[in-house]
Amino acid sequence: MSVLVYIENRDGQFKKNQLELMSYAKKISEASNQDIVTLSIGNVKEEEWARLSAHGATRVLNGENLPNQIDNEVFAQALFAAIELVQPKYLILSDNNTGKALAPRVSVKYRAGIVSGILGLPISYEPFIGKKRAYSGKAFAHVKVNSDLKVLTLSPNSFEIKESSGNVQLEAFEPTLPTPKTKVVQADKQTGKLLLSEADIVVSGGRGMKSADNWGPLEELAEAMGAATACSRPVSDEGWRPHHEHVGQTGKIIGPTLYIALGISGAIQHLAGVSSSKVIVAINKDPEAPIFAAADYGIVGDVQKLIPQLIVAYKELKQ
Ligand SMILES: Cc1cc2nc3c(=O)[nH]c(=O)nc-3n(C[C@H](O)[C@H](O)[C@H](O)COP(=O)(O)OP(=O)(O)OC[C@H]3O[C@@H](n4cnc5c(N)ncnc54)[C@H](O)[C@@H]3O)c2cc1C
Repeated sequence: MSVLVYIENRDGQFKKNQLELMSYAKKISEASNQDIVTLSIGNVKEEEWARLSAHGATRVLNGENLPNQIDNEVFAQALFAAIELVQPKYLILSDNNTGKALAPRVSVKYRAGIVSGILGLPISYEPFIGKKRAYSGKAFAHVKVNSDLKVLTLSPNSFEIKESSGNVQLEAFEPTLPTPKTKVVQADKQTGKLLLSEADIVVSGGRGMKSADNWGPLEELAEAMGAATACSRPVSDEGWRPHHEHVGQTGKIIGPTLYIALGISGAIQHLAGVSSSKVIVAINKDPEAPIFAAADYGIVGDVQKLIPQLIVAYKELKQ
């Protein structure tokens, strides 16, 4: 019996959230007395294995010849092959688009219970009970899983990255996969722009920014901080910002290290998309705005005046 964890790479590198996932899986394997097996798909840069090892990886099923970007249905077949091989008691995935696409497929095939968006370590192992957000983050649910195989998708920033010794042993993983029904024939990358879902820092604007014309300073702040930009739903509905920047219940769900909310009231539907952020900073002119209840740091004031001051202060600090 083992703990199987799928660690994703982007352009051959493991992102910070994947090291969080690795640390988490390691902890689960220790607590439940199981071996840990890591699944990797696509080509990974040589030096990355040492990083994974330093976070607890030992046996790695290395699907280096499998395409990293494949149809989720085919991806699921690769995961099924890994499950058949190692017979895990736990399957651990990120609570991102890939995890959300794969976990239900595994659940259906193996009749396995899922805790999607599990927050940190389980409350108990026997019986297995995990905690997750419910009602758009307004409540917490304690979910009991009775099946032998337990599928967990880890909410970002819910477990501390921990270094621990490992000794990576790469094992070729070459399952026979069906031909994908869909194929990406062209992917146009947004050059120079950080992907919102992967950004460590996100600077986000709400209706308090007043109009599309006021976004220059916000973008300047984001650029100075190496951050991605985001917005609330009314902002994208108004056409002030593109829809792919909209975060929240009906938009993207993100978990950056730092989320800066500028002129955002902090409605529950907005918080549903950002409450996994490690640190939330808010600027709002209304001291009663709900965003302050969710924020770690808050400034009561006018965004138009404060953003330029933040840019200056940040640039000074950096020097
Ligand atoms: C089913 C459903 C799904 C939804 N999904 C989402 C979602 O995914 N994402 C989302 O964001 N919303 C979503 N909403 C909308 C949500 O309920 C809120 O209406 C929305 O988040 C409010 O956006 P806002 O904070 O930008 O605007 P507002 O609520 O208008 O708040 C603007 C804030 O800016 C402050 N402000 C004004 N001027 C200044 C200034 N000069 N300086 C500083 N502060 C200032 C105000 O005090 C206020 O707090 C959803 C709603 C429903 C019903």
